[in-house]
Amino acid sequence: MNYEAFFGKQLDGLRREGRYRVFADLERHAGRFPRATRHTKRGKRDVVDEVTVWCSNDYLGMGQHPDVLAAMHAALDQCGAGAGGTRNISGTNHHHVILEQELADLHRKEAALLFTSGYVSNWATLSTLASKMPGCVILSDAGNHASMIEGIRHSRAETIIWKHNDVADLETKLAMLDPARPKLIAFESVYSMEGDICPMLEICDLADKYAAMTYLDEVHAVGMYGHRGGGISEREGLAHRITVIEGTLAKAFGVVGGYIAGSANMCDFVRSFASGFIFSTALPPAVAAGAVASIRYLKTSTKERELQQERAATLRVMLDIAGLPHHDNTSHIVPVMVGDAVRCKQLSDLLLDYYGIYVQPINYPTVARGTERLRLTPGPLHTDEDMAHLVASLAEIWSELSLARAA
Ligand SMILES: *Cc1c(COP(=O)(O)O)cnc(C)c1O
Repeated sequence: MNYEAFFGKQLDGLRREGRYRVFADLERHAGRFPRATRHTKRGKRDVVDEVTVWCSNDYLGMGQHPDVLAAMHAALDQCGAGAGGTRNISGTNHHHVILEQELADLHRKEAALLFTSGYVSNWATLSTLASKMPGCVILSDAGNHASMIEGIRHSRAETIIWKHNDVADLETKLAMLDPARPKLIAFESVYSMEGDICPMLEICDLADKYAAMTYLDEVHAVGMYGHRGGGISEREGLAHRITVIEGTLAKAFGVVGGYIAGSANMCDFVRSFASGFIFSTALPPAVAAGAVASIRYLKTSTKERELQQERAATLRVMLDIAGLPHHDNTSHIVPVMVGDAVRCKQLSDLLLDYYGIYVQPINYPTVARGTERLRLTPGPLHTDEDMAHLVASLAEIWSELSLARAA
């Protein structure tokens, strides 16, 4: 086999379909979010431009928060750069222990367990739970994130996919199963590409009725919903009915890392059996310290959450006035619908090259073909002027590319 030719041909296929991924080379500036410097080339020249980032998952700007930076600087000087090993082999630092206590408290659970990312936490936990419980069947929402799907696949447990957010379909599927079998319902609270929110109460009721465990990905909600930032499960008063709450430290908390929270036995079980936890070096202590500072801050400060909701609502109104189609939902995520991979990429390129606006195109396989979009994540640091410039720029390009307006 000609390996090089194979790789090249596969990449050409992606380019033809308009879904070859090009990363913007950015330098974020602490203290000036959502502003960033973009490094690029024009001909042979290196060029730097200032851009405004509209698609960051550092939703609340906690990545530049003074409390977070101070905690990270202090821990870096105190503990050095890396953790020094896996948690089992000299890698457990006091900062990890404090962070797990903080996370357990955030979700009012007995315990929490850290992973190097949200991806790894989903992958490792789902694959471990479903593979170790004899006869376990997973009921997975059709809209679940790639990290959950990979973990479920790896478990080799029987998997039943239920229609996205459709509790009637979930019940039909639960009712067909042997009541004696262990069952795990896996779903998310805020779905990141549509920005829609799950019917959590109904799912919990079904879990009780059919004696199933519940596994909830709160990655796009922790820090942003609930009185203390405990996510949609806190807002709805349902955290105690969720068996496993999974979250990330990388989005609203602005740092990096993933976790699960639940009963002491469940966390200890995953700690003891999950390969993806056991055989990987622990997070740097400074990262853990930064996450603790971020979680603590957002447990008491609500102004970032309130402003984020206000900014999202204001942006929606502005898009409506300009006749730009967007997917309506009740979260902070504002998907502007383009419906064509090539033009979605073109739109994003024009915004970046000529308007100083960075929002990456979302194409297949992240979303279904024909539903290509720009996923806007307005936050507390976007000003009225930023929004006016964004909407005017979108409107101009919309006409230029002859894209359909909203009715
Ligand atoms: C981003 C994301 C993850 C992974 O979290 P990371 O900390 O970025 O690895 C998991 N689930 C969902 C729904 C996500 O969007």
